[in-house]
Amino acid sequence: MIIDAHCDVLLKLWSDNLDFKTSEKLQVNLKKWRESPVKVQCFAIFVPAEVKEERRFQVALEMITIFFEKIIEPYEDIKFIANKGDLESLKENERGAMLTLEGCHVIGDDINKLKTLLRLGVRAVGLTWNQANAVADGIGEKRGAGLSSFGEEVVALLNQENIWVDVSHLSYQGFFDVMKQAKYVMASHANVLHLCSHPRNLDHEQIQAIIHKNGWIGVTFVPFFTKEQQTVTYYDTIQHVLAYIHAGAETCLGFGSDFDGIDQYIVGLESMEGYRILSDELKNKLTERQWKNIAYQNFINKFPRIN
Ligand SMILES: [Zn+2]
Repeated sequence: MIIDAHCDVLLKLWSDNLDFKTSEKLQVNLKKWRESPVKVQCFAIFVPAEVKEERRFQVALEMITIFFEKIIEPYEDIKFIANKGDLESLKENERGAMLTLEGCHVIGDDINKLKTLLRLGVRAVGLTWNQANAVADGIGEKRGAGLSSFGEEVVALLNQENIWVDVSHLSYQGFFDVMKQAKYVMASHANVLHLCSHPRNLDHEQIQAIIHKNGWIGVTFVPFFTKEQQTVTYYDTIQHVLAYIHAGAETCLGFGSDFDGIDQYIVGLESMEGYRILSDELKNKLTERQWKNIAYQNFINKFPRIN
């Protein structure tokens, strides 16, 4: 059993109108999901920057419709996850699907839009994608500013509603502003900077800050966040898991694949079926307790929405 905190299937279903059940163009589809050890999959609402500002919230709502109509409602064994109880009560044959947001550009500067998304079931909120928005700067904005006043309002709402603040894609300054103000933090998809020098990865101070905040980190399967070379294999992904454990993150760690958000793949992790080979290998390298923690228990323990 594995929990995966990040994939971008909703974007592909929205933009390409693919069939969730069997489309081979998807790294995460129903058939692969049922054959994989993934028990719970988080589905991110990611609205591309090309979508005009005034259309972005509408597109987010369209993706939520797709989530319910194409992923949850047609299948008896797929359950909507809105709180910790839902996670804990999944039956043997059932799988869970959770909604997350990747980037607050979809809400503009309107807190009511965020309230609506939370009411519709969004349970982790990424403050930015790579660009700047009304909440904060993303990691790709050279100004590198932290939380705006509106961003502080957003974090206060997420604290009040027991929702994770996702710091993946956020600026360095924004990261530490969030550490100061947020109650519940996660980096849904980020690797270790000292193994692969990409600005989307976490440095030592950031890893320690998340551990200190009792947060959660998802090892991601993006090849260029994993190793700076042409061919990257699942063995390189394992090095990030081990590095996080070495840094003290054993009880804060899990996975956030970024499947369907990438067009280059790690050898062995070309789709969610790859979790089988990865988990077999990791079970050999870790203690039983370490594996259980990383595969799913840490996520369940840290999930802040109790009911
Ligand atoms: Zn991302």
